[in-house]
Amino acid sequence: MSSQRVRPEILDFTPYVPGLSVEEIKAKYGLPNVIKLASNENPLGVSPLAQEAMVRAAGQAFRYPQNHSPRLTAAIGKAMGVPAGLIVAGNGSDEIIDLLFRVLARPGKDNVVCYEHCFSMYGLTSRLCGVEYREVPRGEGYRLPLEFLAEAANENTVMVFVTTPDNPTGLAARAEELMVLSGVLPKGAILVVDEAYMDFSWPPEEYSMLSAVQELDNVVVLRTFSKAYGLAGLRLGYGVMPQWLADHVRRARPPFTVNLMAEEAGLAVLEDDNFYSATLEVVFKGRERLLKRLPELGCEVWSSQANFVMFRPPYPADQVCEELLRRGVIVRHLKSFGLPDNIRVNVGTGPETEAFLKALEEILHG
Ligand SMILES: *Cc1c(COP(=O)(O)O)cnc(C)c1O
Repeated sequence: MSSQRVRPEILDFTPYVPGLSVEEIKAKYGLPNVIKLASNENPLGVSPLAQEAMVRAAGQAFRYPQNHSPRLTAAIGKAMGVPAGLIVAGNGSDEIIDLLFRVLARPGKDNVVCYEHCFSMYGLTSRLCGVEYREVPRGEGYRLPLEFLAEAANENTVMVFVTTPDNPTGLAARAEELMVLSGVLPKGAILVVDEAYMDFSWPPEEYSMLSAVQELDNVVVLRTFSKAYGLAGLRLGYGVMPQWLADHVRRARPPFTVNLMAEEAGLAVLEDDNFYSATLEVVFKGRERLLKRLPELGCEVWSSQANFVMFRPPYPADQVCEELLRRGVIVRHLKSFGLPDNIRVNVGTGPETEAFLKALEEILHG
């Protein structure tokens, strides 16, 4: 018995691999201070307004939250210029990905199409749901192969995933190109555009598909509070989708997955314009600094519209990451993305980004 009772998809399931935590690195290397630039979190921490909102809400934590977070979806709709009825809030955008699979994909029958070296949750969730996962090669310089996504799709394709700006490369697709893709997909296939990093693109209206969701019947946009809004630990994200799909997703979802603290913090941070603009300022400045300095240190870099930069050092990336760890800097070795020669580093505060560059200089030229 025991494991023979487990579904075959689960028996050979490779779990999601998160980056090491600050506490784990401190203990392993005996370091008092550690700089984490590995998970694309907000360098400014938590918005003060969100912190106050959580303190105010603490005494209400014995109550169930309102199901479907209607106050939050109304506020998101207002802030983003989208009807609230098209917004489904979730326990991170990961939950929305999971719900889309469960509502749309028929196990053993349907397939999803992604490109190689993409965010692992799409593939993990498809495997978990018993849905075929198809991967299309990227173009030159890791270019997003939008035209080949449509070619790989067929009448059983239920979703096509595009991350833009892309994780881990930082490359972004133009909204025009994504409009074309949505138009040439087979009937029944939905284009899921993961815009986790869209806040950091410039100008966003050239890249975001948010306003297009209202006109198109086959596009879903995913957004998150984990990056520009600094609430990764609370797990809060949302999907913007056609009305017919939003209605079904809301009916199918387990209740109360967005908790009361997350909802209050989300409402508060949407109002915190100072925090948001300070975040963008730090990220734009730090990104420019990384893109200028990394090539000077002998690294290859890829242009980025996100809050991180992908680079390839002149020495083996695993050794460079290990040396950075010894110096108390955590970055993301991209082996788990199938890119063992590359590293992803997110923009930190000004001093954090400089400390990373100094440590890297020591390793490469010391
Ligand atoms: C960080 C990230 C997310 C956000 O996920 P949450 O579950 O909302 O924290 C989504 N997609 C991509 C590609 C990401 O890198």
